[in-house]
Amino acid sequence: MRCDSVAPYLAGLAGDEIEGRKRAMLLEHVASCEGCRDLAARHERVRAALSRIGAVEVEPPPFLLDSVLEGTRRRDRARMLPVPPALAQDLLRILHENREAIVSAAGAALIAAGTAYAFWKALRGARGRSAAVRQPA
Ligand SMILES: [Zn+2]
Repeated sequence: MRCDSVAPYLAGLAGDEIEGRKRAMLLEHVASCEGCRDLAARHERVRAALSRIGAVEVEPPPFLLDSVLEGTRRRDRARMLPVPPALAQDLLRILHENREAIVSAAGAALIAAGTAYAFWKALRGARGRSAAVRQPA
């Protein structure tokens, strides 16, 4: 395999999303190619860092859920949703430490997916807490 045909699969390889013969071919190339091995290691670091962020319980600002719900009701009005400060710091650090890997489209997609997951997790936590408040003890 050539490096340019391996590169698009390295993010998926880091996320264990590629199996079977394709995975074996990719691993064989990565083992023998220093450039692809370095890029694969960067994807793995980004994946691991995003997993850690996903595992952290983020306390969303109180207005975030209401803001999202209102935004979905009124699509004609554009709204900016602030990123929780702790999440923003972690994201900035990951972006800074892995800027070369993130230049690739796969790296950017990984960051976007991780950010969406962190928001989803924060919203799910906020929804669970407000549901618990409404239920009688
Ligand atoms: Zn290569």
